[in-house]
Amino acid sequence: MTDVRNVIIIGSGPAGYTAALYTARASLKPLVFEGAVTAGGALMNTTEVENFPGFQDGIMGPELMDNMRAQAERFGAELIPDDIVSVDLSGEIKTVTDTAGTVHRARAVIVTTGSQHRKLGLPKEDALSGRGVSWCATCDGFFFKDQDIAVIGGGDTAMEEATFLSRFAKSVTIVHRRETLRASKAMQERAFADPKIKFVWDSEVAEIQGDQKLAGLKLRNLKTGETSDLPVTGLFIAIGHDPRTELFKGQLNLDGEGYLEVEAPSTRTNLTGVFGAGDVVDHTYRQAITAAGTGCSAALDAERFLAALA
Ligand code: FAD
Repeated sequence: MTDVRNVIIIGSGPAGYTAALYTARASLKPLVFEGAVTAGGALMNTTEVENFPGFQDGIMGPELMDNMRAQAERFGAELIPDDIVSVDLSGEIKTVTDTAGTVHRARAVIVTTGSQHRKLGLPKEDALSGRGVSWCATCDGFFFKDQDIAVIGGGDTAMEEATFLSRFAKSVTIVHRRETLRASKAMQERAFADPKIKFVWDSEVAEIQGDQKLAGLKLRNLKTGETSDLPVTGLFIAIGHDPRTELFKGQLNLDGEGYLEVEAPSTRTNLTGVFGAGDVVDHTYRQAITAAGTGCSAALDAERFLAALA
């Protein structure tokens, strides 16, 4: 068992590192569990980030995250590239256990474990991520000006991504497994009314093609089994996200989709001394800057909570 810390942060994306920076500058000596495989978070898997303010020429995702990490470390954050495998957040002293079985204790915990976009599970999907394959139109749409794009999915997110992308793209083809959409009526109508958007029904992606860059898709009709080629240079996968909240089930309140519930606009969860920030809370915006923003809020909320204990 280790000494009782002021604050432990679980997760190391923009939310976790920003919370670490702020709590470190407040002399709270935060202990950050960055994750074993994916330290640095979602942006470690992307290429250029053009919409994080302060970098007028853009910055590579991994470089941005290395900078955030170094900035938090500079002010005294202790960073451990390991996963937390269990937690007990109910008492005044919270405990979190790492993969070696060591129990770490703190008065406050900030949860910034992010969310995982659902994948199609096809070969080349990961290799071509950032090279034509994307999960975020707001992030990457601009790179696909005047190109032919496919959007996979039939829910609100897919319709929103498609209508957003049609502003830049030459054409947008929505590929959906069924013959009706799950998206709300309003979102459907917007997509149907858009002259640049076409639909391919009852179909799935059978193959992602291309070596250095996406070159096209092979589609399979699920009713007839027939395959066809879709020559696109952009593929946006919009089949949902899974927030990483498994660890907190039964302790922290989660909504119907598994996202962490907080008392917005604060970052307080249902348990005193436990705060949540970033994509693990956020259904809507899912951007590096919004994750960093709420990471800052969580740090300030934790700081005030700890000050009130003193
Ligand atoms: P994440 O970045 O997901 O980080 C969560 C961290 O928590 C991970 O490091 C994970 O390992 C860790 N973790 C999880 N569980 C545990 C555990 N049990 N123990 C320890 N650690 C744990 N946004 C933009 O603004 N601009 C862009 O250009 C952009 N491009 C993107 C490109 C791609 C390919 C993707 C996937 C996303 C992109 N985004 C972009 C979105 C952006 O990356 C996310 O909104 C942002 O990273 C969310 O930050 P976060 O800190 O909440 O979570």
